[in-house]
Amino acid sequence: MKPNYLIVLLIFTLTSLINHACLAQTYTGTIISVTDGDTYIFQTEHGSLKIRSEGIDAPETVQPYGEEATVFMEQYLNIEAKLITSGTDRYGRTIGTLFIGGVEINLAMLQSGLAWFYEAYSDNSDYKQADSTARALSLGLWSEDTPTPPWQWRNKREKFPGPELSETQVIICTSKNSYTYHKYYCQGLKRCKSEMKVVSLKEAKEKGRKECGWCY
Ligand SMILES: [Zn+2]
Repeated sequence: MKPNYLIVLLIFTLTSLINHACLAQTYTGTIISVTDGDTYIFQTEHGSLKIRSEGIDAPETVQPYGEEATVFMEQYLNIEAKLITSGTDRYGRTIGTLFIGGVEINLAMLQSGLAWFYEAYSDNSDYKQADSTARALSLGLWSEDTPTPPWQWRNKREKFPGPELSETQVIICTSKNSYTYHKYYCQGLKRCKSEMKVVSLKEAKEKGRKECGWCY
């Protein structure tokens, strides 16, 4: 690693730590509206905040158990709660953990099988454990055979609009350095500098291509 990279990394780390320390805050208030299983509006005495639940990712409304996740959060509407925030996400939503009567609601969502542990954004070991236990017990969304992670579902929706690929179609990057095929325009295709093509799964396999590790 070149020395200037080290400096950039150091500054970045320090900035993250400072941001984190300054933005952690505790509020009392109530949920006044629920958007979905991990997003809601929290009213404090100083105003309202759009909250994205920390460390969890609930199924989108149209996914299996998306409705159940929303209904679960709706039971906490207009009840006095404590909220600990820890910054904002890339959409400008405040990241928060909700407590009602001493119960950590983000954790309760995981324990009920109504959300996935959001490992990419959290290292909370209690959350990870709750996720594993819910899976082992086939609770909520884990009762489905192969539930799709919400982040994969969103990636597909946002990054590959247009006609859905059928089960026998895949997308490939035509670069000669590309050896995989994709279920949708996943992050693995973002690096593709050549043309992308929809081909049949059979054709992709015949050309010796393998499943992409991101979208399969
Ligand atoms: Zn892929």
